[in-house]
Amino acid sequence: MPVLRLAVSCPLRSLFDYLPPAGLEPQALSDLRPGVRVKVDFGRRQLQGWLIEVAEESALPAASLRAAQAVVDSAPLLSPGVLQLCLWAADYYQHPPGEVFEVAFPPGLRNAQPHQPPGQPGWRLSQRGKGLPAGALQRSPRQAEALALLQDSAELATSSLRERGINAGILRQLEQKGLAERCVLAPGRILSTPQPGLPLNGEQAAALEGILAHYGGFHCSLLEGITGSGKTEVYLQLIAHCLAQGQQALVLIPEIGLTPQTLARFTARFGTGIAVLHSGLNDTERYAAWEAARTGAASIVMGTRSAIFSSLRRPGLIIVDEEHDASFKQQDGFRYSARDIAVKRGQIEGATVVLGSATPALETLHNALQGRYGHYRLTQRAGQGELPTLRAIDVRRETLQGGLSRALREAIHGALRGGQQVLLFLNRRGYAPALQCHDCGWIAQCSACDTRMTVHRRQRRLRCHHCSANLRLPQACPSCHSARLLTNGLGTEQTEEVLRNTFGEWPIHRVDSDSMQGKGAMQTLVSEVQNGAPCILLGTQMLTKGHHFPGVNLVAVIDADALLFSADFRGEERMAQLLTQVAGRAGRTGDAGQVLVQTHYPDHPLMQAMLTERYADQARRLLQAREEQGMPPHGRLILLRTDSPATDTGERFLAALRQQADPALPQGCRLIGPLPSPLQRRAGKFRNQLLAMAPDVRRAQRLARLLVHCAEQLPSRQGLNWSIDVDPLDLG
Ligand code: ADP
Ligand code: ZN
Ligand code: ZN
Repeated sequence: MPVLRLAVSCPLRSLFDYLPPAGLEPQALSDLRPGVRVKVDFGRRQLQGWLIEVAEESALPAASLRAAQAVVDSAPLLSPGVLQLCLWAADYYQHPPGEVFEVAFPPGLRNAQPHQPPGQPGWRLSQRGKGLPAGALQRSPRQAEALALLQDSAELATSSLRERGINAGILRQLEQKGLAERCVLAPGRILSTPQPGLPLNGEQAAALEGILAHYGGFHCSLLEGITGSGKTEVYLQLIAHCLAQGQQALVLIPEIGLTPQTLARFTARFGTGIAVLHSGLNDTERYAAWEAARTGAASIVMGTRSAIFSSLRRPGLIIVDEEHDASFKQQDGFRYSARDIAVKRGQIEGATVVLGSATPALETLHNALQGRYGHYRLTQRAGQGELPTLRAIDVRRETLQGGLSRALREAIHGALRGGQQVLLFLNRRGYAPALQCHDCGWIAQCSACDTRMTVHRRQRRLRCHHCSANLRLPQACPSCHSARLLTNGLGTEQTEEVLRNTFGEWPIHRVDSDSMQGKGAMQTLVSEVQNGAPCILLGTQMLTKGHHFPGVNLVAVIDADALLFSADFRGEERMAQLLTQVAGRAGRTGDAGQVLVQTHYPDHPLMQAMLTERYADQARRLLQAREEQGMPPHGRLILLRTDSPATDTGERFLAALRQQADPALPQGCRLIGPLPSPLQRRAGKFRNQLLAMAPDVRRAQRLARLLVHCAEQLPSRQGLNWSIDVDPLDLG
């Protein structure tokens, strides 16, 4: 008897057999195509599943099988390529297939809902609005801004207005005045002829030609170009080629608020019909964009991590910008790397893949140097910008104010007086990373994690940065009641305070996840800073991610030592990437910028390397070290983690797992642990881990299957959660 073999959206790593729904005609059964959704009873719940195949028979007795409730879709909503990709990813990452398929669907289609695609909500000017002169509504600047945007284009998506800082309230005010009206966007307004691109320089032209020479089948290239070298211009011209072939281009960008800037450049070149997929959209907007990608209505699809699973009608080109960025790796649940999946997808769909970065991940660089990827380098800034010079400030024995040495304060003054903008990097938010009693030594610890609480003075709270714990900032020591509480260390809030006292006549913008809460906050700030007036930008890693601040001429790293001593094997790679990315913000137009790095260790070999070597050279040196250690990309890692309420349950589970797996390990593989993870207790749970190393990807795959097989055989312990992370980014 034929059975439906399904991936069901539940956390189990197997496929499930169901009988066809009652009353399904034999013809309808044989017409069923893989990928259609099926509604089933699962335990006491109703879930959706995806048809993988109609099998001749089940390994289970027919009497034990339940019939599926209904077939939901008349045709699969996934493209054949994405269907295959999901199955590959479930196997590669050893993740429950149903949960992988879920990622490939918009939230609006997750509970076996029938497919009823919404239109993309947008706004346009009313007749009256069109009659207004340019520059109207000066007395309400936000409304004037919205009006100006709407005057520039016939219709605008609600989401893209929001990204430019225009929220629903402003639009409603225009609506009430009868100036603007809601509409459903017509999909796919791509210009039939894109705006012409810039004439390319020699390196850009070589990259474009080299990549196009392989166009039309799978080929992957690394575009390794320093910040401002014109990588984006190369992407744009590749996309123009892809569109001219009648194909679709998929562009992946990192998570942090980069979308508006990149999108604006793409829109200026190609028109407004770009489908955008990221976590800031509501369900309707995501569904609409996903549908536009799937049907091919949108020729360009731009999105963050999970967009790599969106179906395309005519896939041709996949671009991963800032491919080294950690946000491409999902760190919980389905732990996949969108960058790696992009390459696999290119293979499956015969598409051209381009990975671009100023600071490529060592994995990517290795593939390029081995000749598996094409490799193009852009070593010059494309516009007029020059590369900044890096210099250390030795802060030993210096009196620091808010972390700033005198030399740095003078440099800041000089830059501001010279009409320039300043960017200060401090990768710690809050006021101070610790609170201590001066009389008895008590330190504010998180009660649920092995970590100190961070002082947030403005909110008057202590917060844990590893769980949601937070308390009122105490006035007195809970242990000895002394009122002499001291803060230790430095966060952005504190530095901001000192900057306001010292440089109060200039605007100071703090950029971290506390200050950039609203959806349009980052974009508003970026537009304000881009007017070029002198100001200080102070921020965490958020600031370093690809934003263009053309007026910034002085960049300073306030505490480079915090980057210097990392226990993780990727520590040096991360530091080199971070410093290079921070430095890349300086001098993007006009004069060469200046980058100052404050450190207590100016002579440390690593610090010396950072100051004198370019990223490209450091990376090549680091690759050699990895080879000697057998660490990725030479060799592969898999991490098994347990989280448990008791200290030793996880450790015992992993020890038992190791005992089972050891005798069956593929040749050259080894297991290390169980070990407590570096921050062992978080949110009240104890974390332990078992690290598995394999010499190559094939054996890593066999090893991953073995480990999961053994783990699933072990009697489960109460309250214990285990997970597998294939190619982990963090070993914590
Ligand atoms: P990247 O993506 O590598 O950071 P961009 O593509 O953003 O670099 O280019 C940096 C700046 O140089 C932009 O202002 C861009 O318009 C300009 N630019 C890029 N390519 C050229 C070119 N061939 N000629 C002139 N200017 C260019
Ligand atoms: Zn005390
Ligand atoms: Zn905590």
